[in-house]
Amino acid sequence: MREFEVTSIGPEEGLLRVEHSDIRGSDWFHYTHIYAKTVIPGHEPVGIIEEIGDIAAQRGGVQVGDRVAVATMLPCGFCRQCVKGKYNLCRASGAMIHAYGYRDVSESPSLWGGHAELLYLDPHALVHKMDRDLPAELAVMFNPLGAGVRWAHKLPGTGIGDCVVVLGCGQRGLASVVAAREAGASRIIVTGLTADVPKLELAREFGADLAIDVEKEDAIGTVREFTNAEMAQVVVEVTSGSTQPVIDSLDLAAPGGTVVLAGAKYGKVPEFDSNRVLMRELTILGALAVDYDSYEAAIRIIESHRYPLELMHTHTLALDEADKALKILGNEYEGEYGIHLSLAPNN
Ligand SMILES: [Zn+2]
Repeated sequence: MREFEVTSIGPEEGLLRVEHSDIRGSDWFHYTHIYAKTVIPGHEPVGIIEEIGDIAAQRGGVQVGDRVAVATMLPCGFCRQCVKGKYNLCRASGAMIHAYGYRDVSESPSLWGGHAELLYLDPHALVHKMDRDLPAELAVMFNPLGAGVRWAHKLPGTGIGDCVVVLGCGQRGLASVVAAREAGASRIIVTGLTADVPKLELAREFGADLAIDVEKEDAIGTVREFTNAEMAQVVVEVTSGSTQPVIDSLDLAAPGGTVVLAGAKYGKVPEFDSNRVLMRELTILGALAVDYDSYEAAIRIIESHRYPLELMHTHTLALDEADKALKILGNEYEGEYGIHLSLAPNN
């Protein structure tokens, strides 16, 4: 635990009192791998505006006391990608992603992460107002759900009647099931490991028609049978680490189908058969982060209470329990099973 000075806020800046900050797979990865920076992790917080400068208040349409979700990215607003609306691809600061949770604490004013009592609202921060009456642990799901909206609906253009296969049933896999259901998919199939059975059951609650334990069943054969050999118009790959699901996704997609690759891997995919892609005219899309519209759509879904999203939330932990929270998510904490976890730094 470290303490930092809180500097005074200028007209384009603000301060957020963090209510909840999500723990996610990338936090676990950074925690267990050598990382060149010293950062305050947490890049998807929700909180209450504690201080806000005049210009920032006008730009964001917010005031002190408002609850906001804070977007991960800190886009420059001027580069080619930003002007085109693809601000998640802004690289104005060089090769590095300019985002919360990734800036070194040596950069003033240090408060660049959600796993802290206060978050600095940079002039480039993008905030989304949220209903203050929502339980904070539900409100903070705006990020996984925003990812689901963008990856399982917006990018692949999922529409009414499509069959969608979601590979992986973590927070983002479950969110993809919700988004595919919202998009009007007629059949939604989700996969997971034997250890993920509680998540697969939850996927059914959220609208999946079929949940496949890939350690017990052959996913490709099962999907073939379930779809009468038509396969899926959209395949969303959100597993972390393993490369086999990328290979499988090519076989799960129907001819002319779309594969969205959104699960980060630890290495390159071996035996990638490009002929599978061209012979069947597949579209492969890479997906990084969430955009403005997808966050807004996700927030409306949360506020609608149409899905029992609270069933996904397994743990609220204090700031000094961050180590425990990370280990639970990494399946390295004896006797605890986590799906969606968040830290509540001010509880
Ligand atoms: Zn930019």
